[in-house]
Parts: sequence; structure tokens; C-alpha cells
Amino acid sequence: HLSVRLATVGQHVKPGSRLADIGSDHAYLPINLALNGIINYGVVGEVREGPLENAKHEITKAGLVDVLQPRLADGLAAIQSSDDVDHITIAGMGGALISHILESGKDRLTGKETLILQPNVGEENVRRWLMQNGYTITAEEILEEDGHIYEIIVGQQIGVVPPYNSEDLFLGPFLRVEQNQTFIKKWQRELIQKQSILNNIEQSQHTDQDKVTQFTHEIKMIEEILK
Ligand code: SAM
Repeated sequence: HLSVRLATVGQHVKPGSRLADIGSDHAYLPINLALNGIINYGVVGEVREGPLENAKHEITKAGLVDVLQPRLADGLAAIQSSDDVDHITIAGMGGALISHILESGKDRLTGKETLILQPNVGEENVRRWLMQNGYTITAEEILEEDGHIYEIIVGQQIGVVPPYNSEDLFLGPFLRVEQNQTFIKKWQRELIQKQSILNNIEQSQHTDQDKVTQFTHEIKMIEEILK
């Protein structure tokens, strides 16, 4: 009974891999992957005691104490070199937080890990971090569940990173080409929101010119794609 969101994240984990799920909360994703035989080893990282207790409880209930290692740690500090992980999932947080976790935990990355990232907002931060750190975006997903639209971004170090432009980073290099119905719906929503925010900024007493420039550029990119 995994959510469609987490199930779709899980589809990008190759059978037989060793996973680290960072910010796992109930550990639903690694538990599901372990029960389905996709992973035979998993690190379950949590920075907060409460969620880690949830994870431990669920792991025990599922009979997976020998497969999944719950660890209290900030971000990628949960990963040890002896874990030999080849897939890292970070889901259900803002894109700025995901990028921060990757940036501050860089020393734990070997470059062989596939990063499967599911930001709830601020996807652009995630794509920029990947680009700046030698990761090519190898797949993207967009899906709707319970009225929310989610994106999934997969990054891998597989050679020279394509020169992503601002449209690629903002909209997604794959998503903006594919332009499926969910993508169109997302950007129709975002356009209305951003236009209203821009109006508010312009009407405020001390107009932040950088913000105006940024929102104007974003609105232009959205209008262009919806044309
Ligand atoms: N990944 C699950 C999902 O997608 O359903 C749970 C998402 S939950 C909204 C976000 C979790 O990330 C929280 O349990 C929070 O404690 C954890 N978290 C936030 N910052 C973290 C960090 N720096 N390191 C590890 N976990 C973190």
C-alpha cells in the first residue's frame, strides 16, 4: 500500500541494489523494496528521534531487522563506506533542503550512486546541484496524487554533463520536452500563482527588483511552454 509517489520513486531503484533512504520517516519505501526483493540491504536515515522510532517499529513489524539499518543522522552522515550503497533516495522534502543535504554530505558520495530525488517544491535547486556536481539527469517523472503534483529527478555521474539552460533547470530537461498533461496542469497552476505574487511585489512599497526580474523571467518561461 505504498503511495503512487513513493512507488514511482521505488521504480528507479534497480533490483539487487543497496539503498540509502535519507529522511525516511516510517521507512515505507525501503520496507516495500525489501519485501519485494528489490533491495537486499538498506540504510534508513533520520535526523529526528520520533520518525526514527517509527522506522524501527515498522522494520521490526515487517521482519526486516537483518536487512534495514535504521540510523539517527543528519543527511548523508547516515551512510558509511562499508554500506557500499549504490542508490540514494531522498523524498518528500523541499528542493532546497534536498540540495543542502547533498551539498553538506558530499564527502559520503563516491560518484557511483544513482540519486533518486523527489522534491515537493523548488525542483530547480535540485537540478542545479546535480549539474554543478557532475551529475547528468537521466530520468524525470511528474505525477499527481491526492491533488498534489510531484516531480522525481534521477541523477547519475555518467560523463560530461549536458549544458542545461535555465528552461531545463526550471521545467526539467525531460519533462519540458515530454509535456504530458500533468506537466501542463502544474505549470498552469504555477503561472496563476506567480502572476499573483509578482503583482503583490510590484504593489509593495519597497519593490524588490531582483524578485521582479526573477518572477518576470519565470512567468515568461511558463507562458512560452503553455503557448
Ligand atoms: N521520505 C518519506 C516520504 O517521502 O514519504 C518521508 C518524508 S518526511 C515529510 C521528511 C523527513 O525527512 C522527516 O521525517 C524529517 O525528520 C526528515 N529529515 C529532514 N531533514 C533531514 C536531514 N537533514 N537528515 C535526515 N532526515 C531529515
